[in-house]
Amino acid sequence: MNEKKNIAILGSTGSIGTQALDVIRANTDKFSVEVLTGSGNADLLIKQAIEFNPNTVVIADESKYKYVKDALLPHDIKVFAGNASIADVVKMDSIDTVIAAIVGYAGLESTLSAIKAGKQIALANKETLVVAGDLVTKLAKENGVNLYPVDSEHSAIFQCLAGEFHNPVEKIYLTASGGPFRGKTRDFLQNVRKEQALKHPNWEMGAKITIDSASLMNKGLEVIEAKWLFGLETDQIDVIVHPQSIIHSIVQFADGSMKAQMGLPDMKLPIQYAMAYPQRIKSDFPRFNFMNYPQLTFEPADTNTFRNLSLAYEALKKGGNAPCVLNAANEVAVDAFLKDKIGFLQMSDVVEKCLQTATHISKPGYEDYINTDKETRMAAAALILKIEPIKSI
Ligand code: NDP
Ligand code: MG
Repeated sequence: MNEKKNIAILGSTGSIGTQALDVIRANTDKFSVEVLTGSGNADLLIKQAIEFNPNTVVIADESKYKYVKDALLPHDIKVFAGNASIADVVKMDSIDTVIAAIVGYAGLESTLSAIKAGKQIALANKETLVVAGDLVTKLAKENGVNLYPVDSEHSAIFQCLAGEFHNPVEKIYLTASGGPFRGKTRDFLQNVRKEQALKHPNWEMGAKITIDSASLMNKGLEVIEAKWLFGLETDQIDVIVHPQSIIHSIVQFADGSMKAQMGLPDMKLPIQYAMAYPQRIKSDFPRFNFMNYPQLTFEPADTNTFRNLSLAYEALKKGGNAPCVLNAANEVAVDAFLKDKIGFLQMSDVVEKCLQTATHISKPGYEDYINTDKETRMAAAALILKIEPIKSI
């Protein structure tokens, strides 16, 4: 790389955002920070801004605007508030790459705005593709924008496809760790609490994706994400449980040959690959040692126990606004689970019911997605109100 890449990190105070800043801190000759955004964690956003001296920061939570503004007054950093401002600042001429690392549907508007402004995207926010994959990929194509996957499985597929872009893919296998409840029964899951679900065996991530990983919804969302990123049909995407999380995913080509990408589970690697593509930057991330893993194992996903994965496949087959319904219902259900309002298995009940009752739109536009998201959130909230709150133990 000859020139520094100017980076905007949307969601810099989160798990992906802070790790992206770790990558930048180790490579200040290659990257500089142009924009940082956070939501509730104003103190961390201020600290990051003072360290990395971006042109602009945006705090999504408008009630914290004055606090951030006052703290950054001596630093010649512009401060804005609200999600509309995030969607606005991503258009700045000085930005080369936008790291989309806001969690959930809240990241859609700013990602679309960055794509329309022709920015290259390092995409962590998988929900964006789940909600509006056709729109996002169509706009990316029209604007000459590459969507570089940050999600480790999709980065693995992308790395396996390097040099193979004209060779047809027969199939991909997304690997799943199985999460903290692998091998458990529905009886057991009936009573699990958020404290247990938040303990992921291999990855440290934000709360929402950690719950999604425990319920296998994360893998369901990733199946949909893979369809849009790699232009695949539903039956070309398979999921295989691999508890050690060393093989990050696999591509099978038309001749039957399979390529896998492997390494220790560390999100900094896919983040750095997405930021530096097509280069590989030297890193000091811990290296994999075969002798520490004498066995890598594989098993099928238990979709009878973890129904979310089947629900995601169903939504993908149904198409149109169904994945948007799946996502909105899941976001509301996960939030309710994290607030002890519903049990672990009831999250799937809420998603299933919303999928059954939502009005289907086969060719939705942006407004349809906004309305579908809004209506599904209301429907899911109404369902949750009818569920008896879980008792404290
Ligand atoms: P976190 O919850 O750790 O961080 C989310 C970020 O988004 C924070 O900066 C948060 O701000 C900000 N944010 C939250 N709500 C809003 C909102 N309404 N408007 C604007 N900003 C908001 O999530 P992760 O970093 O774990 O995940 C981010 C995305 O990356 C998700 O889509 C996830 O699926 C994906 N991903 C994450 C992986 C991981 O290892 N963590 C792996 C693969 C994908 P604040 O904290 O200040 O409130
Ligand atoms: Mg993943």
